[in-house]
Amino acid sequence: MGSWPRVTYLVGILKDMCDERSSQFQVGFGGVAGVRSFTEWADAASRPDALGASADDVRGVIARGAGCAYGDAAQRGGGTVVRIAKTPHQPSGATSDAIEVSAGATIGEVCWTLLRHGRFLPVVPGTARATIGGAIAADVHGKNHPHAGSFGAHVVSLDLIDGSGTRRRLSKTEDPEAFWATVGGMGLTGVIVSATLNSTTVGSALVWESTALTASIDETVRRVRALSTTHDHVAAWLDLRSRAFGTGVVTAANHLHGSLPREDCKARASSSRLVCPNIGLPLLGPRRVALANAAKIVSARRRTRRAPERLLGIESALWPLDGLGEWNRLYGKAGFVQYQVAIPDGAEGALVQLATDLGRLPVYLATLKRLGTASAAPLSFPLPGWTLALDVPATAPGLWAALDTADGTVAEVGGRVYLAKDVRLKARHVRAMYPRLDEWREVRARLDPSGRMKSDLGCRLGLIGSAT
Ligand SMILES: Cc1cc2nc3c(=O)[nH]c(=O)nc-3n(C[C@H](O)[C@H](O)[C@H](O)COP(=O)(O)OP(=O)(O)OC[C@H]3O[C@@H](n4cnc5c(N)ncnc54)[C@H](O)[C@@H]3O)c2cc1C
Repeated sequence: MGSWPRVTYLVGILKDMCDERSSQFQVGFGGVAGVRSFTEWADAASRPDALGASADDVRGVIARGAGCAYGDAAQRGGGTVVRIAKTPHQPSGATSDAIEVSAGATIGEVCWTLLRHGRFLPVVPGTARATIGGAIAADVHGKNHPHAGSFGAHVVSLDLIDGSGTRRRLSKTEDPEAFWATVGGMGLTGVIVSATLNSTTVGSALVWESTALTASIDETVRRVRALSTTHDHVAAWLDLRSRAFGTGVVTAANHLHGSLPREDCKARASSSRLVCPNIGLPLLGPRRVALANAAKIVSARRRTRRAPERLLGIESALWPLDGLGEWNRLYGKAGFVQYQVAIPDGAEGALVQLATDLGRLPVYLATLKRLGTASAAPLSFPLPGWTLALDVPATAPGLWAALDTADGTVAEVGGRVYLAKDVRLKARHVRAMYPRLDEWREVRARLDPSGRMKSDLGCRLGLIGSAT
């Protein structure tokens, strides 16, 4: 823990002693920069005053979903965190293309409900645990961004309790500026309580997945580009260790449309899974990662020789990391940082350079995906090009300086760091990375005139005024 989070943590404890409510420790998925804050619960039927005690919290209020953002987006040290209960708006069935859900429902819950009707959400992130509120607030993208765009494109309407306590129904036609400021707005326009989402026909809970092994980053880039035009979901895993630098495993999946029987979705949704124990010590190290990477390459090579195409459950193809619950504990108490950037088309040289430079750090997981057209939301992350994501233990020597340098390169080529994964970006880079920031701020000022909505991320990056 750095010095400022420690101070905030102690201030939180003192504040807690003077408050009737009890504060809780909150931290992002990366386990870095946790703080104490108070929790309020609201539900999809909430009236504006349901945000209750949080109205008086001068430290600020921010919504929190499942806490899958890696950094400090869903926390406010010493302030209040609002969580949305799943009831009474559990996803209750999908008879038409659209489904109305509580913002507290998870992506997985909504998808399994839809699958019983042969339907699915058009865009899902790499974890089924994220909530609908979190998916809208980060305008998440999936492995199919070139075809489907990001999450906000498929939101028919959303109900927001804005920063002034007014409940509003927003859509692409009802106050579209407020709608797009909330999509990708990282919770800083208010609390989303429910949403109506479009769905798409998939036919079954299975996909055809093909695997290809690549020998260099250049080859991986070429493969991902080509496969993204023919397949629904494409992603590459990269080995950035010096010995195997650039080796990649590219997976490309298409939904299985047709007459095969549907899976028992309910059973899958509740099926038990392995959970990483919480021992507080790192279970990963460079040697173990090297062994795991070597095993992954061997297994991919075998698969490409024997049967490059296989039928796979949709959850294994789209949410492979969810197979091990709480896998972030593998990094121990000190946690890890995911550096996820978008790099525009034409800057592939910078992409390869970044992978090379940051590959000198102990990168335990590296992935590459193709991105398509940008969304209408001013703070949305995807732009036409690529997204590279690297997981590095927070204790890695030279990490913070290396990422500061990388930020400069990313900003220079017109790229950006993903706010939903960030815990350390500096405010000075934000304007270059998000050039529509002022446009977003104007709309936010209308929705939250007294500046009640605050997160640690929003304050650190000066999204909502000057940086703290
Ligand atoms: C294993 C893993 C894989 C991931 N893969 C991807 C991926 O492929 N693509 C991608 O885009 N992202 C990905 N993510 C990031 C994740 O999808 C986003 O961070 C998402 O926002 C998390 O949703 P959540 O419910 O956990 O929200 P939280 O982490 O709790 O909050 C995230 C943001 O959403 C806001 N928010 C949450 N709920 C509400 C609400 N009801 N109203 C208003 N604002 C709200 C918060 O204030 C915060 O700013 C991944 C995360 C993990 C852990």
